[in-house]
Amino acid sequence: MNANTNKIALVTGATRGIGTETVRQLAQAGVHTLLAGRKRDTAVEVALKLQAEGLPVEAIELDVTDEASIAAAVEQVRTRHGHLDILVNNAGILLDDISKAPSQQSLEAWRRTFDTNVFALVAVTQAFLPLLRESAAARIVNVSSLLGSVTLHSQPGSPIYDFKVPAYNVSKSAVNAWTAQLAYELRDTAHKVNTVHPGYVKTDMNGGEGEVEVSVGAQSSVQMALLDADGPNGSFTYLGEVLPW
Ligand code: NAP
Repeated sequence: MNANTNKIALVTGATRGIGTETVRQLAQAGVHTLLAGRKRDTAVEVALKLQAEGLPVEAIELDVTDEASIAAAVEQVRTRHGHLDILVNNAGILLDDISKAPSQQSLEAWRRTFDTNVFALVAVTQAFLPLLRESAAARIVNVSSLLGSVTLHSQPGSPIYDFKVPAYNVSKSAVNAWTAQLAYELRDTAHKVNTVHPGYVKTDMNGGEGEVEVSVGAQSSVQMALLDADGPNGSFTYLGEVLPW
């Protein structure tokens, strides 16, 4: 029997882009996957499409920046499933104005970006940790970006050196740094947390100008979500390749 069929996963920001595809691939692997979206109707609509493909997908409402929404989602998962095996923190936003210099981005953009990309990710993880600890071997995947690499941003000639969207970039550096902190907490348990770069993926976030399709973009998250006991804890990777912090 496929060991994944007993697993429950939840993917945030799953109503479009990499999130929807991550749900599809986890469900194709046999995992019962909760497709979380901030609008219930949209989540149901997208989940119905995946169910029509014969996949074990269930919609759940979750606005990651809303405390009450997080609490309601946790309660729903507790009541229906009693535990959670996989949490993919995928929801994210990019608000920087690319025509402006790093020092010219509005503080409003910084605050909103950190609210969704960092504080909400920590809040969702904190709220689901008790249910994740009920799993035999939980996997937390934080969807970061190569743009979070401080090493590459400091290296003239690196592929990202000239791409300075600071609120977004620094939010992803923070996601990476937080991953290392949580990995330390989980180090002597069966649970693991890892952070991934999905690739430069054709989605709404870049107006479809990415280099790879969502089918590739979801793979790094799925790989870390389905890690066996020998897999890493606290890594930053793209398709299994270790990336510089
Ligand atoms: P996308 O197409 O813009 O989708 C973003 C998703 O996040 C949407 O489903 C959106 O929901 C959701 N979201 C935003 N705020 C939310 C909130 N408060 N609560 C719940 N959901 C929320 O972006 P994507 O390209 O698929 O990006 C997915 C992840 O990959 C992000 O973390 C992004 O930073 C990361 N990433 C993407 C690329 C790339 O090349 N695309 C590269 C590196 C990293 P709504 O539909 O309701 O707005």
